Amino acid sequence: MAFEGLSSRLQNVFGKLRGKGKVSEDDVNEAMREVRLALLEADVNFKVVKDFIAKVKEQAIGAEVMKSFTPGMVVVDIVNKELTELMGGTQSKLAKSNKPPTVILMAGLQGAGKTTSSAKLAKLLLKDKHKPLMIAGDIYRPAAIKQLQVLGEQIGVPVFTLGDQTSPVDIARAGLQHAKDNGHDYVIIDTAGRLHIDEALMAEIRQIHDVTNPDEVLLVVDAMTGQEAVNVAQSFHSQLELTGVILTKLDGDTRGGAALSVKAVTGCPIKFAATGEKIEPLEPFHPERMASRILG
Ligand code: GDP
Repeated sequence: MAFEGLSSRLQNVFGKLRGKGKVSEDDVNEAMREVRLALLEADVNFKVVKDFIAKVKEQAIGAEVMKSFTPGMVVVDIVNKELTELMGGTQSKLAKSNKPPTVILMAGLQGAGKTTSSAKLAKLLLKDKHKPLMIAGDIYRPAAIKQLQVLGEQIGVPVFTLGDQTSPVDIARAGLQHAKDNGHDYVIIDTAGRLHIDEALMAEIRQIHDVTNPDEVLLVVDAMTGQEAVNVAQSFHSQLELTGVILTKLDGDTRGGAALSVKAVTGCPIKFAATGEKIEPLEPFHPERMASRILG
């Protein structure tokens, strides 16, 4: 599960600190050295680690903390608060348009879990009594349309397609009209993945963006790729103005570096976390719960 290594290391550091009746500046410095190493080992972005440690130290090495009854606990609370902030502070909710349908554009590299996450998101919307439509905009990967159709059938959500001979921009436009005509309140547009950030495909997704005017542009990134996921997010964000990130494969990510860096580096909040290949409703990402889980 995510954060295994980081979690046990931090629990170890803070276990020692919590047990102390008095905490000296040296104790805090020593603990922060260990936290720094633990974060770097978890593949958290170097600059993010530096800022994080500076912020915690600034608050922890204050007279009030040192004099408090349970200084170790106070330091842990500060770390908890800063970890939460690092991941976006509060839960970042999915947009809802005043003028339905709410349009959600899915972007990401091939294999990140875009199609799977589209279905999981549709299932979440279904659970919340919405009427989503999925649009099959990936005409390049063989069987991508079929994959979405199969998933749609499995969860009971219709999939709009015009096959693979029409341009994705036209498909998106027609799909949106279809959603309006049929009373769908959410539209999820699955787009073509790419192996690398590629100018032609990026231009295409920008065009889809222009014709559908999405309320959400969600980037799907694979948490298991660590800092690479953060780099991908940064590149996409510079070209597409993302509104949020879906972090997939957290079930296989034992380090957690992407989850802890993506918001701080890109400014873009993690809206959902995905685990497993089975189509379950996508889980909203809760920074505060995640921080508590890391600290145990
Ligand atoms: P796309 O190319 O971005 O559309 O990626 P797919 O949705 O086809 O997913 C690629 C592979 O990753 C598939 O085998 C999925 O079953 C798998 N996958 C997607 N999301 C997750 C996840 O959260 N956890 C795990 N373990 N596998 C996932």
